[in-house]
Amino acid sequence: MKRVTILGSTGSIGRSALNVIARHGDKFRVVGLTAHKNVDLLLRQIEEFKPEVVAVSDERTAHEIKKKVQIPVLQGQEGLCQVASHENSDFVLSAIVGFAGLLPTLSAIKAGKTIGLANKETLVIAGDIVIREARASGSKILPVDSEHSAVLQCLEGRNRRFLRRIILTASGGPFVGKTVEELKYVTPEDALKHPSWNMGKKITVDSATLMNKGLEVIEAHYLFDLEPERIDVLIHPQSIIHSIVEFNDGCSIAQMSVPDMRAAIAYALSYPERIDDVVPPLDLPSIGKLTFESPDLKSFPCLSYAYDALRDGGTMPAVLNAANEVAVASFLDGKIGFNDIPAIIKNTMDSCEKADVEGIEAVIKADDWARNKAQELINYIAVR
Ligand code: NAD
Ligand code: MG
Repeated sequence: MKRVTILGSTGSIGRSALNVIARHGDKFRVVGLTAHKNVDLLLRQIEEFKPEVVAVSDERTAHEIKKKVQIPVLQGQEGLCQVASHENSDFVLSAIVGFAGLLPTLSAIKAGKTIGLANKETLVIAGDIVIREARASGSKILPVDSEHSAVLQCLEGRNRRFLRRIILTASGGPFVGKTVEELKYVTPEDALKHPSWNMGKKITVDSATLMNKGLEVIEAHYLFDLEPERIDVLIHPQSIIHSIVEFNDGCSIAQMSVPDMRAAIAYALSYPERIDDVVPPLDLPSIGKLTFESPDLKSFPCLSYAYDALRDGGTMPAVLNAANEVAVASFLDGKIGFNDIPAIIKNTMDSCEKADVEGIEAVIKADDWARNKAQELINYIAVR
């Protein structure tokens, strides 16, 4: 029986994970759950999965939950970190969105847990620190991002010496094929209509700008220890092939399944085994056609900014991530246009003095600086 904690249990990934766990009660037991503000859903999850402990991000939400349950309800960043490192869990699914996931995930890593990593931002913001801490504690990091799960599945049991490059596939989002001019007028509602995946709002916008793929390039660099030149991106709108690995002889291996995150979540949860009937098998005749194209960096420059940040190193990936989080939130609030997202990120990165990452404080400082800078630029756009 694997003892599982889910950070961000009320989100899209958290709910999918609990769906897998509910169907395999003989294999998994829930130890801890954390959420932000969705009290009703967290209460229903507590009732169904009977965790030993939960945490929420603020005091008011904690107070509301405490009135209705008998188990310990922790709060704030410290509470989230305590649940993440709880002694009774073996496996921690890191599924909080954005920077808020960093410290709880690091806390689970320092405690030597096996991590199912959905919160790619953690590796983008502090990849060197995360990998160093995981080595020190013996924590194993298993990808939950479908592309990285695909790469892991393709590489499993093979000699890394023969690996030439990996190719991360991207659906391209709802705006694939649009020009910069056409993108000027797209709305948050348009951006949230993802053609193949059903996800939280932030990652859905990241998918539309191609920043999601940029963050995934940085994530792949840390997970698979590959230089940026050996990580490529390919647009594949059907989202059936989740990624490809290419070997030195020119042969490639791809991993395929229907676009359903439960496949990657279950692979991490049960690794190195597989569990029965997680997703419906592929019906290729009914899919008919798989298509591919190169990413359009003119319309979707966020992908190149992520490569730039990775090559620059130091705190630059943290700056890229923070500017993106602030810009996406403002776009969703209707304060800026779609094309302002890459403009704000580029401008923030250009104004930033590159700094080395000595410890987590440097990363937190860079995040804070970039958030303020991006907000300043947004305020300027808003009064224009
Ligand atoms: P979501 O918005 O649906 O859920 C986010 C979760 O984080 C919720 O449980 C919410 O309560 C919690 N949360 C939000 N802000 C918080 C805060 N300040 N403090 C503490 N908790 C907070 O997001 P999602 O789509 O499930 O994505 C979660 C992570 O997984 C992201 O990093 C995303 O990039 C990654 N991911 C998601 C998918 C997907 O299909 N949804 C696929 C690959 C990777
Ligand atoms: Mg992905």
